[in-house]
Amino acid sequence: MIKRLLLVLLASAASVSAQTTAFGTKTAPNATAETTATTPATKGASKAVEEEVDNSVVITPFRSLTPPEAKTSRTFQLSKVNKLGFTETSKELQRLYSAFATQRIIDGSPSGSSKATGFLATVNYALVQDLGDNRFLAKAAWPAAGPNEVLAAGADTMAVLLLEKPAKVGDTGKITGMHVGTVALLFTATYSPLAGKRLTLRREAFVECATLEDSQAGLQKFMEAVNAGAEMSATTNEQISCKKCSGLGFTREAEKGKLLDKRIPCAECVSGKVIISVETKFVP
Ligand SMILES: [Zn+2]
Repeated sequence: MIKRLLLVLLASAASVSAQTTAFGTKTAPNATAETTATTPATKGASKAVEEEVDNSVVITPFRSLTPPEAKTSRTFQLSKVNKLGFTETSKELQRLYSAFATQRIIDGSPSGSSKATGFLATVNYALVQDLGDNRFLAKAAWPAAGPNEVLAAGADTMAVLLLEKPAKVGDTGKITGMHVGTVALLFTATYSPLAGKRLTLRREAFVECATLEDSQAGLQKFMEAVNAGAEMSATTNEQISCKKCSGLGFTREAEKGKLLDKRIPCAECVSGKVIISVETKFVP
């Protein structure tokens, strides 16, 4: 699924050359070697325009996405929930399901949703330029995401968005966006003060998506799916006791001639606690 989304986002070069009508007469024939080769028919028409403006848009992956990675994994057995002697509780199931729901995107897959392959974030945006095919350059803001904030927060940051529905420059809004990596965007700016300039920007890219609803009905369906053998997992940040200092927050070192050991703050934790990413696999 993500591959398809990414292809849609990156489909620029192909759509520019294949369907020049989408870009109308604005498409200039000398954008790239690829475009030149595939648009000889429009060359004559474009020549009528005194000054050719290259309005083609080329989006290429620059840095791949950073999928949430789990440091460790464990299982959660549904049949043990609230049974004496087991750690599985309905409260814990509810918490994990909430995490699960926010990490699944609704799509056309047989189960109705699939695991998000990039960080999901609420993205507030103001559209700055239309790049065609529902892709936009936007001024955006989103919170940091991932372990150790792998995806840095954006504040008034230019980003590339692929929206679900057509929109227009100036529109503002809020979407659930899946981070699909950093892309290199080659385009001609239409906004001031860069209007008319041909630029390459490297920007974070987000694809609008919908996550599963965190509801009792959703939880019920989820449990049925797990019991029917579906492989489901949720990744959460969990606080655990630091192994290096045994949860003390410091290590001891004997000092010559002194009664008390020297306490050295543990470099691997905060007050004896470490936050790690845990993948919980659900089993019947
Ligand atoms: Zn420690």
